[in-house]
Amino acid sequence: MKVIEHLERADGPLISFEIIPPLRGGDVKGLLQLVDDLMEYKPPFIDITSHAAEVIYEETAQGIQRRVKRKRPGTLGVCALLQNKYNVDAVPHILCRSFTREETEDFLIELKYLGIDNVLAVRGDDSGYKKPLQHGRSANIYASDLVQQITDMNQGKYLEQDLLDAEPSSFCVGVGGYPEKHFEAPNLPTDVRHVKDKVDAGAEYIVTQMFFDNQHYFHFVEECRAAGIEVPIIPGLKILTHKRHLTSLPRTFHIELPPELADAVEAAKPEHAVDIGVEWAVKQAKELLDRGVPSLHFYVMTNSEAVKRVMSQLDV
Ligand SMILES: Cc1cc2nc3c(=O)[nH]c(=O)nc-3n(C[C@H](O)[C@H](O)[C@H](O)COP(=O)(O)OP(=O)(O)OC[C@H]3O[C@@H](n4cnc5c(N)ncnc54)[C@H](O)[C@@H]3O)c2cc1C
Repeated sequence: MKVIEHLERADGPLISFEIIPPLRGGDVKGLLQLVDDLMEYKPPFIDITSHAAEVIYEETAQGIQRRVKRKRPGTLGVCALLQNKYNVDAVPHILCRSFTREETEDFLIELKYLGIDNVLAVRGDDSGYKKPLQHGRSANIYASDLVQQITDMNQGKYLEQDLLDAEPSSFCVGVGGYPEKHFEAPNLPTDVRHVKDKVDAGAEYIVTQMFFDNQHYFHFVEECRAAGIEVPIIPGLKILTHKRHLTSLPRTFHIELPPELADAVEAAKPEHAVDIGVEWAVKQAKELLDRGVPSLHFYVMTNSEAVKRVMSQLDV
């Protein structure tokens, strides 16, 4: 079932999770254990991230060697497992960067045959690798281009325009939004205008980047509504679990940690960082639920311990 249908039919807020495929060569057993844990909360859908190829430079006897490496393949396989083993709707993430539009169409065809109704379309970040575009291949630059490609396919318009009897797909498309603005955007209103481009291209809902101050989310929703964006905006929540998150989260995701949270974690013993993070996430989640959000989306990634502690304190 489509995410948008889950949202429309729900008689209360939904809880969804986001997980990542194992590292290349890794065992899927750990991930299955994680999903076993998450299924206890009956998520209507689970997102699975997608990972672009990266350029790695290695010092060898022959000098510096450049290698292109995709560390976490497996998004499609994990989606098939989720749908067939757990009977939960899988939402694969799909990227512009490091995939040609032709590869994207092939991926969408695989998803269609697997009965996967949802995708979350994001651009991806610069990983140092730029896919060479030979032999008439083309690329999506912005997420809005990717959404348009999926919308076209939903209307039976594949890249080869002379296909006979091309069957329309029927994907529900979600996109990302940034309560603290995307780091490359000059300001929030401009960024919101680009979110609107994605909705105009066919996106049916938005999932936000993580934020630790709910005011950012409330303000973002206001800006989106003022810009004419009417689709559901699902807050994305990350639980701080380690002291190193004080630097890694702002560095990686370009978000701020409120002083009250950052000071408490800084002063705590390393093993107590997770207690503070869980308490903070519970407070955030309760306020969001009180304000009537359609759903909460937890960035779980590989470990369910913290989210289990949060869920045990929420009345959902
Ligand atoms: C919910 C969520 C899930 C994610 N999942 C993944 C994942 O699985 N894998 C992964 O690698 N990354 C993921 N990301 C990260 C994402 O790929 C990066 O944040 C990326 O830098 C931007 O992606 P986007 O889809 O928001 O890009 P876009 O919407 O394309 O926006 C990127 C930037 O370009 C600007 N822009 C957009 N359109 C235009 C235009 N026409 N002209 C000028 N500027 C424009 C925007 O304002 C923004 O600054 C996720 C992010 C979110 C919020």
